[in-house]
Formats: sequence, structure tokens, C-alpha cells
Amino acid sequence: MASAEIIAIGSELLLGETQDTNTLFLLCKLRDCGINVFRTTMIGDNVNRISNAIQEALTRSDIVITTGGLGPTVDDPTREAVALSFGCNLIFDKQLWENIHEYFKKMQRNPTENNKRQAYLPEIAEPILNPVGTAPAFYIHQNNKLLISLPGVPLEMKYLTEETVIPLLKKIYSENEVILVRTLHSYGLGESVIDELVSDLEKASNPTLGLSAKFGQIDLRITAKGNTFLETKKLISDFESQIRRRLGINIFGSDDETLALVTNRMLYEKGIQLETLEINTNGCLSAAIEPKNLFSQTIKSEDPDSLTSDDIFMKHIAETGYPYSIALINRKDKMQNQIHSKIYFKMNTNIYHKERFYNSLTFSDEQPVLLAMELIRETILNEANTETEMN
Ligand code: AMP
Ligand code: MG
Repeated sequence: MASAEIIAIGSELLLGETQDTNTLFLLCKLRDCGINVFRTTMIGDNVNRISNAIQEALTRSDIVITTGGLGPTVDDPTREAVALSFGCNLIFDKQLWENIHEYFKKMQRNPTENNKRQAYLPEIAEPILNPVGTAPAFYIHQNNKLLISLPGVPLEMKYLTEETVIPLLKKIYSENEVILVRTLHSYGLGESVIDELVSDLEKASNPTLGLSAKFGQIDLRITAKGNTFLETKKLISDFESQIRRRLGINIFGSDDETLALVTNRMLYEKGIQLETLEINTNGCLSAAIEPKNLFSQTIKSEDPDSLTSDDIFMKHIAETGYPYSIALINRKDKMQNQIHSKIYFKMNTNIYHKERFYNSLTFSDEQPVLLAMELIRETILNEANTETEMN
């Protein structure tokens, strides 16, 4: 299986002024082509450092893709750095210069003397014509190694990747495998509990399983490689079934699904519209409930008469008398640097609740909102199960 590295070139990236979205884009595209990426590099606009980075990357990997540094100015060093890496000269390409002229003519502008730099390419390079910008890209295929240099402007880089780079990779590495990724989302079980439940699967080599945690949500990422799409999809679905059997309803969704999305879908399917009560929340709970599932909302700051959270909720539902109510009450304990979140869910005559203490220094609204979504989801699922049992 072919391996690749990406080198993002540009001092603005290292200064934190521009986010390196090109690498992210290329990683996804290479993954979809079945090409392994084990390392990426970010480097400033310096000919020698770029040249060293290219040489090193080519000793480790079959393919090296650079982005950036192909502009018309002196601080655009990629062409020179590539020529230095391969020990060749830069030569003026008349055809490229004509293409650049054409591009400017279309844009009703004239190229400057600076733009002439962009018509120089390493003498062993093949140009990749760029109809969406002035910076011509190029590639060098030599001794079973492939170097591709793309412009930094994301639109141009993406266009050339789709139109030229992917077809080129498919042509050269036609025996590529397929790589597929599926992510399952769980909530409610700690990372270490999940780790114990799936530890044998985490040691498998194909598919592989990786865990990542955020705000009580644990993601389980399944990555499989195979020779065909169908074969790889089957590997993923067999693995997924095993995980689902072990984690049961703690898996709430997959890939793009969020806990709020899944919970809102359940509310809608059940025809439940909620009225909300929030205290000290900035309205984050009502915001997480889709308007079609929202009956009414009450957002307040801390009650001055310092009732307990339980009292506040009981008083509220006695006043409204509405059958479906969700409440989030945050109380700050300044001494302990803690936020105590209490969540209540009233469904018909039953009241369910969850509570959690959060560190107020790292607290985010998303944390109790996720807990509230989970309380709703869990309650609806449990009630549905009880109904089926009784039938
Ligand atoms: P360059 O080809 O180096 O002249 O880059 C042109 C512009 O593309 C820069 O000014 C950045 O705004 C943008 N750019 C360069 N590299 C990247 C990158 N890795 N990710 C996102 N944008 C980039
Ligand atoms: Mg640049």
C-alpha cells in the first residue's frame, strides 16, 4: 500500500495567522484513495528548510504533496526548494507563460514581471495546468517516488486535487486498497469502562478501533481496509455489530449524528413538545431543542429567595400543569469553584432527574445540555421498552 506525506508551506501557518485547512482536506482525499499517511509537516517560507523537509519525506514515503509557496513573489520558495531537493535547474516554460497571460487576459488584467517567476519549473517536472488561478502546479515522478506541488490558495488546491491529483494517484497506484471509517457515538459510560468492554477489539489490526472522549461523549472510530468497497464495508459492519452488542443503548448514533439531533428526532417521532425552564444557563437548553419540539420556554437568573433546585422545579410544574417539561438549573458554588447542574424531565406523571458537578473554570454550556439530551433520550427509550414488555 502506498504511503504519503503532506508538507504545508507558509510562514503565516507557523505564525498562527492562517489555519492549515489544506492538510486536513488532503488527508481525507488520500484516505479515500486508500493511501496511508503517517506524518505531516508544516514549514515556513525558507528554501533550505523546505528542501530538507522534502528530501527527508521522500526517503520515508512514496508520495510527498506540498501546498503553498507557488506565488509570484520572492518569498514563494517552493519551486526553488524542489529544484534543490532533486539537484536540477529551474527552467522557463514558454507554454506556461502563455497560459498565465491567457488567465490574466480572461480576468481583464495584465501579468506583472513577477508573474514570470511562476512560469519557471524544475526541469524534470511535469506542469499541472491551473485554470482557476495563476500559480501553476507540477509533479515529479522519479525512481518510484512522486512529488506533487500544489498552490496554497485552498480553492485552487482543492480544484487541482480533484481534477488532476486524484486521477494521477489512481493511475500510478492502481492497486490501492479502500479505506473506510465509521464513528459510533456513546454517552454515559466512562472511557475506562468502554475500554474494558472493547479492549480485545482495540487490539485488532483490521479493522482498527480508536476511542476519543469529550464532555462525557465517547467516540469509537472504526477504520477498515480492504480490496473492494463491499468487502471493506462488510468488515466495518461486522465490527460495528460486535460493539453495539456490548454497549447497547449507550451508543446513541454514528458519524454526523449528534446527541441533540438524535434526541430531537425521538421527540418529534413521539409527538412530544417540551416546555423548558432554565436558570443560570444563557438559554443553552432551549437552543438545543428544535423549534418544532419546543412548546414554550422560561429563562431566568438565580432565584433570589434561594429555594432549592427541587423546590423551584416542583413549583414551576405545579404552575404550568403541562405534561412534558425539561429543566436545567445551574447553581454556582464560588467557594468550591463548582457548578452544580440539576436536570429534571417530567413526562406525563413521572419525573426523572440527573445531576452533575462541574469545575467552574473549565465549564462549558454544552456539558449539562448533553446530560439533558441524554436524560430525555434514555427516558423515552426506557418507557418504550416498558410499553413493549407490558404488551
Ligand atoms: P501561497 O501559495 O503560499 O502563496 O498561499 C496563498 C494563500 O493560500 C495564503 O496567503 C494563505 O491564505 C493560503 N494558504 C496557504 N497555505 C495554506 C494552508 N495550508 N491551509 C489553508 N490556507 C493556506
Ligand atoms: Mg505562501
